[in-house]
Amino acid sequence: MDKLSNDSLFLSHETVEKAGLEVSVTTMSPLGGEHADSDAEIVAKTERCVVEAIVSDSAFYGITLTELPKVQIGNRAEFNRVYEHETKEWVVGAHTHNGFIFLDPRLYRNTAMDFGMIAQTDHEFSEGQYLRLVAHEVGHLYFSALMGTNEHGSEMFMRWLNEGCQQVASGQVSDGRVSYEKFNADILDGSSANYFYHKSATVVMRMVEVYGQKDFVEKLRVLLSRTGEAFIKQDNDQIADPHKVFYDSFRELFGFELNKENLENFVKTDRSPTPTAK
Ligand SMILES: [Zn+2]
Repeated sequence: MDKLSNDSLFLSHETVEKAGLEVSVTTMSPLGGEHADSDAEIVAKTERCVVEAIVSDSAFYGITLTELPKVQIGNRAEFNRVYEHETKEWVVGAHTHNGFIFLDPRLYRNTAMDFGMIAQTDHEFSEGQYLRLVAHEVGHLYFSALMGTNEHGSEMFMRWLNEGCQQVASGQVSDGRVSYEKFNADILDGSSANYFYHKSATVVMRMVEVYGQKDFVEKLRVLLSRTGEAFIKQDNDQIADPHKVFYDSFRELFGFELNKENLENFVKTDRSPTPTAK
């Protein structure tokens, strides 16, 4: 089997261009007038973040993208229009089938006043967090690429893995995660769990520690391609059970049955629980 060398996993700034990736960022409602400079600045800033995100996500996932959806910056109403749903104030970035949407960096709690506007999120803007936010959203694209479908990455039973991977790949794990000792595995029930993102990051962090980053991603690729294949079959009216494929493959690849008790054990002790006889 051909193995990619470590070097080829890393996409440098030059190769973003060589790969023919066009980074297209637009702002949906430029302020113009005295703020015209800042309109151009947020577009340029976001473009830089997207290029950085492609570099770091390509390194994490070991694949390169062939195309990039458009990136838009907008206010809350525009955000909701692209997202096709009302969003909570804490939602500041999203990957949708209409492309990426980010809340205008000038509408954060600590920036809005400078532009004579009312904040539309309680988040504080910082360059570092914005870069990690962009890398998180772009990361969803890689996860979908590994699945071979854009449609099912947010299915309840695997959403923790998707969000956890993006938290870790983007470095957002440094903005917060739940300690190994305090971890509980209610994220397996779905995203309504408290600290869903932080706990998901904790699990993926632990997996990367235990298996090593490269091996973890190898296992992830197998897990996601099999699960994605089952979803695609189902979408084509063929008989398939993506949920079962995911759980069976997880057991095969990671050596333990995916349930709350085992996952808590794994995170707390860094050892795979002994397989139980079926
Ligand atoms: Zn996400």
